[in-house]
Amino acid sequence: MRRKLVIGNWKMNGSRDSISVLLSGVAEGLAAKAAQRADAAVCAPAPYLAQCQAALAGTPVAWGAQDVSAFAAGAYTGEVAASMLADFACRYVIVGHSERRAYHQESNELVAQKALAALAAGLTPVVCVGETLAEREAGQTGVVVCAQLQAVLDVLETPALGKIVLAYEPVWAIGTGKTATPAMAQEVHALLRKQVAARDAATAGGMQILYGGSMKPDNAKELMAQPDIDGGLIGGASLKAADFLGIVHAAD
Ligand code: PGA
Repeated sequence: MRRKLVIGNWKMNGSRDSISVLLSGVAEGLAAKAAQRADAAVCAPAPYLAQCQAALAGTPVAWGAQDVSAFAAGAYTGEVAASMLADFACRYVIVGHSERRAYHQESNELVAQKALAALAAGLTPVVCVGETLAEREAGQTGVVVCAQLQAVLDVLETPALGKIVLAYEPVWAIGTGKTATPAMAQEVHALLRKQVAARDAATAGGMQILYGGSMKPDNAKELMAQPDIDGGLIGGASLKAADFLGIVHAAD
């Protein structure tokens, strides 16, 4: 039985003050609830990770970053190393988000190297895959997401593969209010799990595969009821504690 996992991706939003309100809202909302079946985490902009650690340590909410360098340390101006994220007790780091792929030209191979770097520092990479609208309309969804996943399979040994979280995020559903139907999402999730199973069935069976793309409190339950959807990666709806908590509760 895989545990459900709901991760907030705040993207480039927030300030010290707004994040302080959001963190206490999320932490208090979840502390009040005993024995949840779903795990929750927030992925914050790097400058706010210390604030996340201070506010969330000792609560049921984990925290993480939205990107990481593929390099371990050294002369890489502007980069943030996985060891630095570990230094602030991050549990997760998102790699290969479609916004990184689109605006920073991140290739499948670079994303795979970032996943490796995260694992080497003891972090859990949340590896994102997803097709654009043009790719879906051209019937290329399966080809695109499988190629994105394959680059990661190519560099990770099976034990390391068992430590990642996968996220399917159709690009056309991100921030648009258009959600994949539960059936559409399930189809891709099942395909991804099958691809991992071709390497190792037990690893595939244990892998958490999250859906992301306009997930909200009112559509979360139906999506997460699908057999291969193990939680959500939440953008817009993670910026309000009540909405984020609504999704975590829908996963319970
Ligand atoms: P959204 O973003 O929930 O705002 O669609 C999801 C994501 O990009 O992770």
